[in-house]
Amino acid sequence: MKQFKPGMLPAAGAALLGAVLLASCAGKHGTLESASHHLDATSVKGVQFSATGKWFQFGQAPAPGQAWPAFEVSAYAAEIHYEGPAARVQLTRKQIVEPGRERPAPVDQQFDQYVSGGTAWNAQVGQAASPPTPQPAAVEERQAEIWTTPQGFLRAALGANAQVSPSENGSEVRFELGGHRYAGLINKQDEVERVQTWISNPVLGDALDEVTYTDYKNFGGLVFPARIQRSLGGFPVLDITVSDAAKLADTAPAVPAQVAAAPAALVVESQLVAPGVFYLRGGTHHSVAIEQAQQVVVVEAPQNEERSNAVIAKVKELIPGKPIRFVVNTHQHFDHSGGLRSYVDEGATVVTHAANRAFYEAAWTNPRTLQPDRLAKSGKAPVWLTFTDRLVLDDARHPVEIHPLAGNGHNDAFALVYLPKEKLLIEADAYTPAAAGATPAPAPNPYSVNLYRNVQRLKLDVAQIAALHGPGLVKLQDLKLAIGEAR
Ligand SMILES: [Zn+2]
Repeated sequence: MKQFKPGMLPAAGAALLGAVLLASCAGKHGTLESASHHLDATSVKGVQFSATGKWFQFGQAPAPGQAWPAFEVSAYAAEIHYEGPAARVQLTRKQIVEPGRERPAPVDQQFDQYVSGGTAWNAQVGQAASPPTPQPAAVEERQAEIWTTPQGFLRAALGANAQVSPSENGSEVRFELGGHRYAGLINKQDEVERVQTWISNPVLGDALDEVTYTDYKNFGGLVFPARIQRSLGGFPVLDITVSDAAKLADTAPAVPAQVAAAPAALVVESQLVAPGVFYLRGGTHHSVAIEQAQQVVVVEAPQNEERSNAVIAKVKELIPGKPIRFVVNTHQHFDHSGGLRSYVDEGATVVTHAANRAFYEAAWTNPRTLQPDRLAKSGKAPVWLTFTDRLVLDDARHPVEIHPLAGNGHNDAFALVYLPKEKLLIEADAYTPAAAGATPAPAPNPYSVNLYRNVQRLKLDVAQIAALHGPGLVKLQDLKLAIGEAR
């Protein structure tokens, strides 16, 4: 019965045989109880599995509205502990460069990712001496990875007094866990076919996280799917073929002391670039505030509302009494756009490439019940200022020029910002200055080469660069050195 494959027989015969087999089996199939028994959900303390396939970089579409870019996964090993709960995922991935798109030469990237209770972190692969890095933004997603596994879903459903209703092909199971809704389908083979949950995202609001499981096999005592396909926000994030799976007895990983002790407070480091121009740096993502006669322009609203609120507070402290009228968005990658909505609530107009507007408008109408932000509460309507060519936010002292960054493989609706009075270039992701002492890249980054070509094409007289990632202000000469243009 368990090995029965309808696809191996003509449809009518398969249906008939299926019905006969079902009738001949003891007990009822397709229920929460029968599936839990079949998948050993109540006795198993955890599962581990290894796989290969594809991984996709959520929130980093090469153009607004496109699918997340794909990576080849040569190794994937997951340990899921239900009694913790905790999880560890190790993976090795390498970007698959899309035809016609210029990207840096792909290299294997190794990750070692953890969640334990409400804490997420990454270990530094191959650098035992480096401290683990907290990943607070990944907690919800990694917790969902635990409770969407077939055994995890069934365990959680049994413990959460799930609502079970018969469906055409088995049962539909719904429950709530830690403020998150879960819904899944159990088929007549007592397999969990699909699990849906919703996790909060600064850009997408309540984002659908959906996993489908097919091709169940008995892996030496553990019945587990051989194919796992997961999508987040409407596009695939994982598609793997499982080669090995087993019950897990190991104890769950504990939160490292450095992560547990990590400060929660957000730091905004301010550096005066020129009178009225402030480089506002964070741990990984930076912004620039420019004081104009009547208003403030902020370039970039990265990460999330927490970051935006900290930057907005710093701007008010540095430039008291002037409203933030414009927030300039370099591109729609989620790490660069997740804080935009807070500025909308603050009363700022969003300045972005015309190709991004429809994407944001659609994303921003999604429900935001999991983590309502300022804009969800105030209900203000966004105001847009879009461009497809040079745009100037004019001012006698500090005019701000915005130019599309044409032909850059990183993103198709991409912009650079230029302050002609200060000869300052502001850009994200096209060029990230190297940290002091870093080993130079083996080949010039094509995104950086393209940035420099754009600077030349637009005849921008750049003295300094305030990159929105990296260790600090640099000179144009540093960009030229990085791409091998300097003599
Ligand atoms: Zn980007």
